[in-house]
Amino acid sequence: MTKPPDEFTDLPVSRQRKLQLRALKVGLCSGCFKQPVFRAERCKSCYAKLRKRNARYRLQNRRKYLLWLQRWRAANPDYAREYYRKHKVANRR
Ligand SMILES: [Zn+2]
Repeated sequence: MTKPPDEFTDLPVSRQRKLQLRALKVGLCSGCFKQPVFRAERCKSCYAKLRKRNARYRLQNRRKYLLWLQRWRAANPDYAREYYRKHKVANRR
């Protein structure tokens, strides 16, 4: 048994994306098909999940950057010292 075709059937996107588009069309959360936040496309809990995941990625990027900075300072000690003296940076992290 197949579902009747609609305007999303022949779109060149994934099944998941089609589900999301159908949910948005009928005004439901595109993550979990519950009642969304007013004038938004996702519900409160889905936004909380997204925020949590983004925080994790931000932390990862922050750690990567600090590691890179540490290595760069080790590779260019004179340049780094001169930079901090010139710009009067107190907090070097
Ligand atoms: Zn949701």
